[in-house]
Amino acid sequence: MGATARSTRVESPSPVRELWYLSRMKRGRSILIVGGGTAGWLTAAYLARALRISEQAHLSITVLESPEIGAIGVGEATFPTIRNTLQFLGIDEARFIRQTSATFKQGIRFVDWGDAPSEGRRHSFFHPFEAPFSTDGVSLAPYWLLQDQASRAPFAEAVTIQARVADAARAPKRPHESDFSGPLNYAYHFDAAKLAEVLAERARELGVRHLQGHVGETVLDETGAIARIVSPEHGGLTADLYIDCSGFRAELIGKALSAPFKSARPVLFADRAVACRAPYARPDAPIQSYTVATAHEAGWLWDIGLSGARGVGCVYSSDHIDDDRAEAILRDYVGAEVETRRIAFEAGYREKQWIDNCVAVGLSAGFLEPLESTGVVLIEAAVAMIAELFPHTGPVSAPARRFNELMAARYENIIVFLKLHYALSRRPERFWRENTDPATIPERLQDLLEQWRHRPPARFDFILDLETFAFFNYQYILYGMGFETDLADGADEFPDAAGAAKLFAKIRGFADRATQDLPNHRDLIAQINRFGFEERVLA
Ligand code: FAD
Repeated sequence: MGATARSTRVESPSPVRELWYLSRMKRGRSILIVGGGTAGWLTAAYLARALRISEQAHLSITVLESPEIGAIGVGEATFPTIRNTLQFLGIDEARFIRQTSATFKQGIRFVDWGDAPSEGRRHSFFHPFEAPFSTDGVSLAPYWLLQDQASRAPFAEAVTIQARVADAARAPKRPHESDFSGPLNYAYHFDAAKLAEVLAERARELGVRHLQGHVGETVLDETGAIARIVSPEHGGLTADLYIDCSGFRAELIGKALSAPFKSARPVLFADRAVACRAPYARPDAPIQSYTVATAHEAGWLWDIGLSGARGVGCVYSSDHIDDDRAEAILRDYVGAEVETRRIAFEAGYREKQWIDNCVAVGLSAGFLEPLESTGVVLIEAAVAMIAELFPHTGPVSAPARRFNELMAARYENIIVFLKLHYALSRRPERFWRENTDPATIPERLQDLLEQWRHRPPARFDFILDLETFAFFNYQYILYGMGFETDLADGADEFPDAAGAAKLFAKIRGFADRATQDLPNHRDLIAQINRFGFEERVLA
């Protein structure tokens, strides 16, 4: 997956062959996106909407997609930002849910991460999307930390209602609520291949042109920028901005422009996945509105409830177990005969994702691992930035430096957050022990962990504009994993224990009510699939 050199022809600027959008280029700007997976179509639809290309004759967007090289087809779990993105694109929520076999996601339940299962006991905690309740900006975390460890509720259950709502198989919203909103924060699980189809349909409606064909050759000019792409099916294709959404193949940013790949493998060990579709045990089995992430001897398994089937995958490090062992772990977990698919990856990213007139979005730019579902959210972050920074005139490379700084910071921050999940484990296997070796833990995380021994994560630990995860996401993982922040000596600084106790009781009361009032998740999905979001009596 690292940048591989390959023969790329370099030529002096010369008149290119006639192109359908050449005349437009003289007055405006053209964008050519290579790749029609989630990254390609999300980028196309988002830019078409943001730049209003259907009203701007001088702007054009084309997607060149190979009909033979498939999209990766994984990426079933998302982040709440996807709701804003879909809404911005003008996609109807009920239609989206129907067309992509989607369900609601309220967070992740981590199983066996803190400790390996022992004598029937299993360690488990919930990472909800909801932020903890607070009053007048006062965090509940210190008051929870000062409670009796033996009798207090798990952190996520104490500070939000979402853990109990999700555990009760309830949905985050009711049928009459408007599109993309509800009382609780949520994202979706969906069929990734169907998502790309929905996005493609919307992109075409918004004026994006679709070409089926391959990148045969990428020709560079004498400055090293892309002069044109040669496709056997369409000849030479030129544009002002080329967006590489060609997945792990990284046709432009990697193969043509040789942007170095920065591996995160010394920190994040997982480099393989084996994935399958698994049936529900019964047609009326509950559909979990959270991803279940179950640790195993050398990685973890995802279990994602879609309508109709579950997407299950085993993520692992090939330095610690072989493919056959991973496949056996998956089959043992699923407990049924399934067809499997193997995927290799390397955690890392390109520090320069925008070079001259080419910017990479999606897997071509980088990928860390499936934990915490950061693939699509990184695409959303990149495309929102491209839309805002897009130079309508002047050099198309102008935003490159800023874009690269911000994307690199985002990747680095996510690496820290993902490593936190592994670094706090007490599991005995070699994979887990090596994950706690300080030599594998970024200095920034070591520094934060040292501070968090004496105070909980706070908002000033992070620059929110660069972050995918906020301080409370760190609190959920830390305290879910059993990390200890010792506030005993500073207890006087938290004098409103009575006020906090009232708030904890209020949250329990809200959770009692919400688990009654919110609809059953499976029933709501069935209803949306039949009727949309109209108010109907649930079966
Ligand atoms: P792809 O889907 O690979 O698409 C590449 C496109 O480029 C295809 O259309 C292909 O035809 C085209 N192409 C390639 N070469 C050429 C060529 N020469 N000419 C023309 N076209 C070409 N993300 C999440 O958010 N949540 C998750 O739960 C999640 N789980 C994941 C699990 C695994 C194991 C992996 C590997 C990734 C996961 N991701 C997840 C990441 C997610 O899958 C990707 O971010 C997302 O699918 C975007 O992929 P893409 O569009 O960049 O690449």
